[in-house]
Amino acid sequence: MSYTGPGFDPPQPRRSRRGPLTVALAALVPGALLGWAVYAAVGGSGGDEVSASVSASASGTPTAGSSPSAGADDTKSPSAPAGSGALKGKVVVIDPGHNPGNFRHTADINRQVDIGTNRKECDTTGTATNDGYAEAEFTLDVAHRMRTLLERQGATVKLTQDADRPFGPCVDERARIGNEAKADAVVSIHADGSGTGNRGFHVILPGAVHSGAADTRAIVEPSGDLGERIAGDFVRVTGSAPSNYIGDGTGLVTREDLGGLNLSTVPKVFIECGNMRDSKDAALLTSGAWRQKAAQGISDGIVGFLRG
Ligand code: ZN
Repeated sequence: MSYTGPGFDPPQPRRSRRGPLTVALAALVPGALLGWAVYAAVGGSGGDEVSASVSASASGTPTAGSSPSAGADDTKSPSAPAGSGALKGKVVVIDPGHNPGNFRHTADINRQVDIGTNRKECDTTGTATNDGYAEAEFTLDVAHRMRTLLERQGATVKLTQDADRPFGPCVDERARIGNEAKADAVVSIHADGSGTGNRGFHVILPGAVHSGAADTRAIVEPSGDLGERIAGDFVRVTGSAPSNYIGDGTGLVTREDLGGLNLSTVPKVFIECGNMRDSKDAALLTSGAWRQKAAQGISDGIVGFLRG
């Protein structure tokens, strides 16, 4: 992710006391959901902000050319099998976090937008691995894989951006795209930029906010259901553990400071698939085979949510 602004604190690492046990149990339970011992972890305070920005002038400037390509071809098949059609009539919006062009448009993405509770940057550059694989490339790759999987199930899938615009969209527009599509589910794809040793994924759920243009009260419950299903299926398919630095081992965090969630009127969550700045997580995030698993896990959670 990269929601860092000048007023935010660095992350506060919190080691899970029971992460490995939770993961082991979850992995043993078919379908993961029922056995997934989830409880709401309220982390809405600014202390959970993650410092992840990659400045335009940093040596780690994201470059598309550095994108690992292993396994990428299986996202490009135009002739997906017919599938079950179980999601016919359902609309899924996938929101690939950031935009590969953002770092060339710092003035545009630093513009403040209204997120209901306050004002915040339009968008951010996102983070990158130490070898320069950009979060914005990662999010698009996972989004493409998810689109293929979900279309096979009959869903109508829309992306908020596909590197088909110079920068953005801004976070308010990202929310508006899901709202106007009357999406049945929206998932924003990210990877984190935390410290070395901080590992694992977490799903971010909307907290209840009602301020200005933001009113999430109607989406808190269904978004929680969506997020729990995604967390359970992400563990089952990828084998990755929930974050060891946020969420107390549940893989779930609730936040009230993200415009993309605050302005949503349809069920929506974010997922931070791993920590790009940790070498072990980076080895996963840069693997096409692992990204396919990540896409499968997230998609399975969406399918479970939409089928009820
Ligand atoms: Zn991000």
